Amino acid sequence: MGGTFNPIHYGHLVTAEAARDAFGLDEVVFIPSGQPPHKPPREVARAEDRYLMTLLAVATNVHFDLSRVELDRGGPSYTSDTLAYFHTLDPTVDWYFISGADAILEIASWHAPEDIFRYAHLIAASRPGYSLERLTALESKLGRERMARIHQLEVPALAISSSQIRERVRQGLSIKYLVPEAVEQYIAKKGLYRDPEG
Ligand code: ATP
Ligand code: MG
Repeated sequence: MGGTFNPIHYGHLVTAEAARDAFGLDEVVFIPSGQPPHKPPREVARAEDRYLMTLLAVATNVHFDLSRVELDRGGPSYTSDTLAYFHTLDPTVDWYFISGADAILEIASWHAPEDIFRYAHLIAASRPGYSLERLTALESKLGRERMARIHQLEVPALAISSSQIRERVRQGLSIKYLVPEAVEQYIAKKGLYRDPEG
């Protein structure tokens, strides 16, 4: 499961667990996206913060793991490169890329979509505001064969987003029960998301 995870929240975690359950996955690997190398160091530090928050969030689930592959690769984080990497790691494994319906709806415009479909199945999870029915519009762009690699997943609806969490922190509002407690504490300890730039 890829994402910016800025920060990770219960919407991500519920989606990952629901996918594991529904598709009988052995484990879910969380892959925080990297930062372009020309960004200021402050933002690079933010990548490490996102990684550590993701670690704190997944540590309590034995079936969850996380990967630094996109952080360490540098340059733009292309899902196609990441899936090629995991395929090479173990070509005998059936890899599934878990994503919210909002992200999947954009997939035709992602870098090298042919590699994405070559190296993985896709799981499109429902997300409040993005009904799975909208995915049918993708068929004309992707064709039938690729559409068959997109599996739909209904997830208990959690109308949570990282943008909303960042905005709440900025306004001094509570983010309790939106993110794991350890993530909430990490954000407070590091003073993340307090200024308008972050
Ligand atoms: P932002 O508001 O900053 O875009 P976000 O909450 O969308 O953050 P991302 O890191 O962009 O989080 O999302 C990573 C993946 O998780 C995406 O595929 C996204 O669709 C999915 N996702 C995020 N929140 C939810 C949610 N509440 N329910 C289902 N899927 C979600
Ligand atoms: Mg998003």
